[in-house]
Amino acid sequence: MRFPNVFVTATGTDVGKTIISAALLDAAPRHGHKLVYWKPVQTGGVDIDRHSIEAMLGRPLQCPLPTFSYQKPLSPDQAALADKSDPPYVVTLMERLRQYSGGPILVEGAGGIAVPLNQSNETWLEFMLASRLPVLLVASSGLGTINHTILSLQALDAADIEVLGVILNGPHDEANLQSLKRMMPHHRFSSFPEIAFEASPSKWNEATDKLWQFLEQSHASQPLSADWIEADKQAVWHPYTQHKTAPDPVPLVRGKGIYLYSEQGEELIDASSSWWTCSVGHGHPQIGAAIRRQQSRLDHSIFAGATHRVGVELAEALIGKSQGHMQRVFYTDNGSCAVEVALKMAAQSWKNREQSQRQLFLHFKGAYHGDTFGAMSVADREGLHKGFTPYLFRGVLGSPVTAHASSICPEGSQALDSGLKDLEALFATHGQELAGAVIEPWLQGASGMNVQELLWLQYLSRLCKTYKVPLILDEVFTGMGRTGDYFAFLRAGIEPDIVCIAKGLTGGNLPLAATLCREDIFEAFVDDDRSKALMHGHTFSGNPIACAAALATLQIFEKQALIANVLQVEERLKQWTEAQHLHIQNPRVLGAVAAWELAGTGGGDYFHSLAYDIPQRARRHGLLMRTLGNTMYFVPPLSILPQELDDALGRIEACIDEFLNEGVGTGERQLPLEGAELHFPH
Ligand code: PMP
Repeated sequence: MRFPNVFVTATGTDVGKTIISAALLDAAPRHGHKLVYWKPVQTGGVDIDRHSIEAMLGRPLQCPLPTFSYQKPLSPDQAALADKSDPPYVVTLMERLRQYSGGPILVEGAGGIAVPLNQSNETWLEFMLASRLPVLLVASSGLGTINHTILSLQALDAADIEVLGVILNGPHDEANLQSLKRMMPHHRFSSFPEIAFEASPSKWNEATDKLWQFLEQSHASQPLSADWIEADKQAVWHPYTQHKTAPDPVPLVRGKGIYLYSEQGEELIDASSSWWTCSVGHGHPQIGAAIRRQQSRLDHSIFAGATHRVGVELAEALIGKSQGHMQRVFYTDNGSCAVEVALKMAAQSWKNREQSQRQLFLHFKGAYHGDTFGAMSVADREGLHKGFTPYLFRGVLGSPVTAHASSICPEGSQALDSGLKDLEALFATHGQELAGAVIEPWLQGASGMNVQELLWLQYLSRLCKTYKVPLILDEVFTGMGRTGDYFAFLRAGIEPDIVCIAKGLTGGNLPLAATLCREDIFEAFVDDDRSKALMHGHTFSGNPIACAAALATLQIFEKQALIANVLQVEERLKQWTEAQHLHIQNPRVLGAVAAWELAGTGGGDYFHSLAYDIPQRARRHGLLMRTLGNTMYFVPPLSILPQELDDALGRIEACIDEFLNEGVGTGERQLPLEGAELHFPH
């Protein structure tokens, strides 16, 4: 049978990982396997564990991959600091692991599971999650082992790591072994006697053979995954999916940082941040801990006539992030509903003030605000929701001026003067009838990542003030750091009355949305008349677990300086799009968003054939990518590291090259785009 790759970890330091590794490496050839050894991180001297295994076995080891070595016998984060050298990062370790394509490999950790690798608090657990190597846990056989072993197994179980078994190393202690089997019945245990090869080669061989067999049996007993991918086709209806023609969905089993892993073992960069939600990276341990803590304290509880601490703390934190622009927070659970609430806030505020002539909303070409009827009514009706037009309420339609040529503004920035005049005329005609103006500020996402001319947006904000029209910003996509600040309006220098956020609010972990407003909007609802209360509320409004996840997300933003990171990502994306100018056209970059079209693929809408083609090709290059029609976009997690960004851009380039070499889409390619001009929004 095929021997599994294995990651050897321990309940602590000095419990015998290296001896157990040596035992397996020794037994392997007798069982017909060439097992390769890799100690990715060595503290306490260069390659000392490898040397001691070689001394034990009396032969050199096959070790194809280089190791991070540090002089001091400390945890890797501290040892790297002491040596003034770079610490190991999971992404680098993974890169090295990927370089290896030989037979089975035994990877030995350094210290226990939760030992920090670097100042970003990555631990071996993160490496195990990323590598998906099954784990062999080494524990001491003596006093104290029960507690250490149970805690280690609980941590591995909580992270859903495959554990092949536990080896109790040292003088056999039947009582400890039995206690552990009783306490953790779903795990397999074995013991390895205290034995030295030199003392008794035959006993050593017997013990190492037994260990080998234990591991082989553990591997064989792992359950095969059920065919749930086929079952998906029978039972599930997916969003925005034409089930007749769509390719099979990618079966995802795990996520860590910017990576998602498929059932087939592919490592895919989450190039859309899972529909623009995943801001702090998948599987962030701090958010996981916050969710677990809150669930054990207070899980979902009614938010009408009751409240909870995390709901209040989050409201205060969001108001703080708005830098005094917003004073109230209303919770919902998705972006569409945050927009519905915003519309109702504006509409009912006029009704409560007995100004019922204000019933129309100003909305814009290219707008997308969600899939509920109110949100669809204030969107671009020529877009995705065309089929629902008869059911939508009427409004006033404006045209944004974009900083680049786009289907909604073909003249691009040249249309600025006429665009400002059109806005002025629109307000002069309808200003007194408008209940509100709704816009995705600076960047319209779903219509194709269209970046507005900032002057035009600022002028809209001024006109709203002049005509006392509440400016409603849909920051479901642009907010929570995506465009370079907590809210796009802060960076754009405009003054909203109502702001909607969702997507990245919980770091992408749980559904939660919020509609923030100014106090004067709220005051229009404060009355002795109960019917003047805002007539809206969702069952899961203010869900405390989601609020706790959002609070943890805000802490991570501060701790990891994510806003500053977005600005660096923006710079790198600009450089990259400039360097790609022979291959792509119409590039736009804002914050951690880059979008472009492939030369010669024509215009087209959401249903452009490339929308099927690109994701499938991208997958072969290690990307989970979506498009908006023929618009390719890259919206990475905001926490992306520089080397991960380079890795991602490299994969995208490879994907683009493949397209260009084969001929794309409509076949009307005109390459290269000599002298193509680049234009950035700011
Ligand atoms: N507004 C904007 C700007 C969006 O991008 C989206 C979702 N893409 C929504 C609203 C709707 O959010 P949800 O899908 O959470 O309802």
